Amino acid sequence: MLAIIESAPTALVMIDCAGRIVLLNAETERLFGYRREALLGQSIEILVPERFRGRHADYRTGYLIAPEARTMGVGRELYGIRQDGSEFPIEIGLNPVETGEGVFVLSAIVDISERKESEVRFRQALESAPMAMIMIDDRGIIDLANTEAGRLFGYPPGEMIGQSVDVLVPDSSRGAHPGLRTDYFKSPNARRMGLGRELYGRRKDGSQVPVEIGLSPLRTAQGRFVLSAIVDISERKRAEEAQRILNEELERRVLERTAALERSHEALERSNVDLQQFAYIASHDLQTPLRGMAGCAQLLEERFGSALGQDGGALIRRIVGGAIQLQSMIKDLLEYSKIDSRERPFENISLDKVFTDAIGLLYSSIQEAGARVTKGELPWVRGDRAQLTQLMTNLIGNAVKYHGSDPPRVHVTASLDEGGAVISVRDNGIGIAAEHQDGIFEAFRRLHTQQSYPGTGIGLAVCRRVVARHGGRIWVESALGSGSTFHFTLSAASRGSEP
Ligand code: ADP
Repeated sequence: MLAIIESAPTALVMIDCAGRIVLLNAETERLFGYRREALLGQSIEILVPERFRGRHADYRTGYLIAPEARTMGVGRELYGIRQDGSEFPIEIGLNPVETGEGVFVLSAIVDISERKESEVRFRQALESAPMAMIMIDDRGIIDLANTEAGRLFGYPPGEMIGQSVDVLVPDSSRGAHPGLRTDYFKSPNARRMGLGRELYGRRKDGSQVPVEIGLSPLRTAQGRFVLSAIVDISERKRAEEAQRILNEELERRVLERTAALERSHEALERSNVDLQQFAYIASHDLQTPLRGMAGCAQLLEERFGSALGQDGGALIRRIVGGAIQLQSMIKDLLEYSKIDSRERPFENISLDKVFTDAIGLLYSSIQEAGARVTKGELPWVRGDRAQLTQLMTNLIGNAVKYHGSDPPRVHVTASLDEGGAVISVRDNGIGIAAEHQDGIFEAFRRLHTQQSYPGTGIGLAVCRRVVARHGGRIWVESALGSGSTFHFTLSAASRGSEP
């Protein structure tokens, strides 16, 4: 038994009922720096710093009235003193030992300097943290709070220590807090507090501050704790609020603009409808008297041709020619006005097929002009088949029509870039002077007489409108006397299921 005590890694000291040291081990000698002989027979108070000695003697007497195995001075800081007068923090376990000479007490003394030091380092780290840090024990009592925490909650340094953490919780959520805390201690883990909820802290003056809180559990020799890092998010909230107001304002403006756009779109649609009605009326109501005029002029020639003579006949033929020209202009204008109203859904279309169809429609003009129309590889595009066929027909038709002395050569090619297709129709015809290259896309804009090149001046206007409806653009590259190339863009499509 004595050998065990002697070699124990803990300082063990036994005192008799008068407080005299009757036994001590090697570790006690080492810890307190005394030789054994210097301690044996001495009062135990020799190992207690002077300022605690009086109280210690009283405790000792009190302990002997109801001796039990327990830790000494729970909740208080205990110190030992070495022979050289230096002090060090200790923890003491007390064990009563019944002997023939009464109750002796065996104390186990542990040097807790290191633990204290790491606690101090922990406190320093906490203190220097750039955010509010508060540590509470499992009863919710604040054990530690750094200066930042004092600043955030409006407490002078040290005043928060020992208070229930509930004083930092707003009245509205205080009821639920102890329950949440108990739950947390049941399965503690490092996490954000109140996920999805807005958290507020309560300052000493009762005002509230929006916060974000990170929790981490901590287990020490003193028990279980929770360390919380608390960030004041007032600034962020203010910025968010400002952003929200800005967004609302933007949204309001967008809505206003959309409404205005809708109004003008409606107005546009009304005027489009008016225009279509007008074109319809024009085609029907104007064509009837026109046909009448042409008919009358023809009758006039048939019945009174001989009386009118050669000049009269020529005049009548001009009347008839004019009427026919007017009729085709009205027909083309009607076509033009219908482009936006014939809303067929877009599909994947093979431009190869569109090309072939256009060549078919232009068969007789191509033959008549002795033209050669060829093509390169053409892509699939998104679009309206009938309108794209009309576009291709108009461009190839013009390329065949506006030729000089050489027989017309027309070549259609395409290139792909960034999802778009550029289609080009090149001819070796008369070309277009730079100053006319924009104007020719206007309705009724022509550069020639009916005698030299017949036409209504609507074809390119139709082309431009069709391309615009497909979200593309059309332009011409040309010089007078050296052919023209018309380019237009369309959205490319993956291969479709067209026959
Ligand atoms: P139209 O051919 O009925 O006159 P368009 O709108 O198709 O009407 O063409 C407008 C004008 O643009 C034509 O009168 C012609 O002067 C010019 N133009 C069109 N295509 C070509 C072309 N390939 N080469 C030379 N000039 C052209």
